[in-house]
Amino acid sequence: MTPSASQRRVVVLGSTGSIGTSTLDVARQLPDSISVLGLSAHSSLDALVAQAREFRPRFVCVTGPDTLPADALPPGTELLRGDDGIARMVTHPDADVVVSAIVGAAGLHGTWAALEAGKTVAVANKETLVMAGPLVMALARKHGGTLLPVDSEHSAIFQALRGNDVADVERLVLTGSGGPFRGRKRHELEHVTVEQALKHPTWSMGRKITIDSATLMNKALEVIEARWLFDVPPERIAVVIHPESVIHSFVEFVDGSVMAQLSPPDMRLPIQHALTYPRRLPGPTRKLDWAALSAWHFERPDPQTFPSLELGFEVARAGGTAGAVLNAANEAAVGRFLDGTLAFLDVPRACRAVLDHHDFDPTPTLATLAAADRRARQEIGRWTTR
Ligand code: NAD
Ligand code: MG
Repeated sequence: MTPSASQRRVVVLGSTGSIGTSTLDVARQLPDSISVLGLSAHSSLDALVAQAREFRPRFVCVTGPDTLPADALPPGTELLRGDDGIARMVTHPDADVVVSAIVGAAGLHGTWAALEAGKTVAVANKETLVMAGPLVMALARKHGGTLLPVDSEHSAIFQALRGNDVADVERLVLTGSGGPFRGRKRHELEHVTVEQALKHPTWSMGRKITIDSATLMNKALEVIEARWLFDVPPERIAVVIHPESVIHSFVEFVDGSVMAQLSPPDMRLPIQHALTYPRRLPGPTRKLDWAALSAWHFERPDPQTFPSLELGFEVARAGGTAGAVLNAANEAAVGRFLDGTLAFLDVPRACRAVLDHHDFDPTPTLATLAAADRRARQEIGRWTTR
């Protein structure tokens, strides 16, 4: 498709995932405003080919081991491979926005390359900021790159902060649904199954983040993400459970005013906001039905049942290598829970142990972080249920 001058040309990293397909749905509904320049996927190559045929991007990049016959793609679409292919797409002069929607630490590379080229990154991949927040923010500043949040809580805070001064913030308050095990006690979670943990009450998402939502590690990662993205110290960040998932987060100011962002739980809205920012356009997300709303609830998180949350605050305070270690330990532990080799409560237990025993470095480089990530994964690989 030939883009028009008013269109944003978008590269979608992780286009076959939950955020990736929601991003393409936004693009499908807003063809005058968004065109697709590049797509990447690790697997699900049939879905990738179908996306390429529909959106006719200039580039398609395959990062996983499977291959794609070049004739599977429409004429005019070039097949790229691996990290080099990702770098080529995200640094392309025609790329206006890069959607970082790869899951886990694998998302760092594309975000880094885009920011180094001074691009705008719509960042769903919170793991990048958890691992390397200070380095990523410094890189963006150095090269004139921009990070726009896609995570619904951070999009809400970003919107609530607009027109205000971060210096006037009393607290950023992240809301969370509480996940499928809200209200349960710790002993009730000893034997929960993968299937139970994957049943999220309000959001439909990829498997890793759905497990993170069940352990509340997702909220922990979001505390760290907010700490670096908005440059607000952890003592000014709080978490409240809000089961309806309508208020996506709020900002309390020093004068006592509270600004919040509300909408139905649908990731297409924060994605669209990042893609069309600062404009707002009618899009695919349905509107809140005020007549049907009865009540909104708020609860304190239960730290005994969900010890992951405290890990997030600790890591946000510590900085250094702590984020990369927590992120890698959690990613590996969630992988083992999904494989059936680790119990649900072992996820926070193992993360706590690996974090407490790691060789902390307060001022790491990217190479130090990569080494800390590798070691944490090895330790989780050796963990046995205790
Ligand atoms: P997903 O598992 O549905 O999709 C992941 C995508 O990344 C797929 O396209 C997959 O092919 C690709 N991928 C997987 N491993 C890869 C690797 N090693 N290298 C390159 N590409 C790889 O995940 P998702 O739920 O869409 O989440 C994506 C990111 O967005 C995560 O960081 C998540 O925390 C964040 N996020 C998701 C949601 C949501 O609603 N799903 C909300 C907020 C934030
Ligand atoms: Mg979120």
